[in-house]
Amino acid sequence: MLTLVTSIASALGLPLGDFELPALPPALPSDPTGQAVPEGDDEPGAEPDGWAFDPRRCGTTEEVEVPRRRRWVRHKVQSRETIAEIAFRYGAAPWEVRGWNGLGSDVRRVKRGVRLRIKASRVPPPREAIEYTVQEGDTWGSIARAHGATPVDLRAYNYPYRGKMKPGTPLKVLADPIVRDWIAAGKGLHERVPRGGVGVGAPDMGTLLGGVRIPDPDDAGRYWLRLPRTAYGTTHAVTELLTAIDAFEQRTAWTGTLAIGAMSGPRGGALGHHKSHQTGRDVDIRLPRRAGVSRYAELRPRRVDWAAAWDFVLALAEVDTQVIFLDYKRQKYLHRAAKASGADDDTLREMLQYPRGSHARRGLVRHYPGHEKHFHIRFGCGPCEFTCTSATLAEKSNAQVDAD
Ligand SMILES: [Zn+2]
Repeated sequence: MLTLVTSIASALGLPLGDFELPALPPALPSDPTGQAVPEGDDEPGAEPDGWAFDPRRCGTTEEVEVPRRRRWVRHKVQSRETIAEIAFRYGAAPWEVRGWNGLGSDVRRVKRGVRLRIKASRVPPPREAIEYTVQEGDTWGSIARAHGATPVDLRAYNYPYRGKMKPGTPLKVLADPIVRDWIAAGKGLHERVPRGGVGVGAPDMGTLLGGVRIPDPDDAGRYWLRLPRTAYGTTHAVTELLTAIDAFEQRTAWTGTLAIGAMSGPRGGALGHHKSHQTGRDVDIRLPRRAGVSRYAELRPRRVDWAAAWDFVLALAEVDTQVIFLDYKRQKYLHRAAKASGADDDTLREMLQYPRGSHARRGLVRHYPGHEKHFHIRFGCGPCEFTCTSATLAEKSNAQVDAD
């Protein structure tokens, strides 16, 4: 009943604060498929794979509290924030936030000023309302990017926005203090990958803020972009990818060109038939071909240079790679090439799921059906990306089942 009342209230734009919120503890929230989401005292507060906010690397004095156990906080909704964005900031899932606050499953936003109850796994500082004076050469896009906002949001804060790009005009900006400090601290450093690319949410549900395109290949021609329009990622993921490609070149005898496929669109979100690739930290890369095999020949196992593929796995293991997906049937070739190259048992166990079965939750390389000709690589969340959720939301809702 409460859900109905609050849905109507939000549809009418009424403040929800006037309605009574459900008493603690809330009922088990459900994910979109109707499964109960595990909830209780044994829930880990920290991200499962050890994501850590690093203020020094972000050039900020701001803090993100990561409690040992998830704790209740109140969040005052700011202009244009969506339920999903709010949930991701606190390391929660959107359906959890809707459940805790008696909101219907179709509610995307609630009115500004409403206070939502959230069981947070991290507590970042809220966005700050600041006044920014337009400088020569600014665009809506450049100002948004420098403050961790989207151009659409920035224009909305300053509606009506026509004529406001004149130098000297004051603009209202809701800035994410950590993202803003991180970008500001990178000024003049000439880093290989520009700052500001931040994942919002989980690989299978989220968006990308300030997406950074994988740079065009240099003269060395070590890779090429098969799909340049979906070659956008987070600053962290693109940096890790380039670093891994460098390391690969150092260790491999392979002289081919890596074919990089889809990463994310410039603003993330759902991408074609892909389940993930939504937050700029998943990328598909074709398995390296043996010398002399045409670029157009179907990539059968015997046409793959498995020794080079193994070199690439080792290079990826040197950077912040969370998982590499490859069909289990193909992993045996990788295993064989690794052994032939002299890899010891510990390294094999650490790198490959094979031969423990396609359901084993061990090894950097994991089975995923349909990944027979390419690696699907997922990088971790960057040290300043407090809106990034490490596990996929599908994994999160199954956390209890997979705890063993
Ligand atoms: Zn993929």
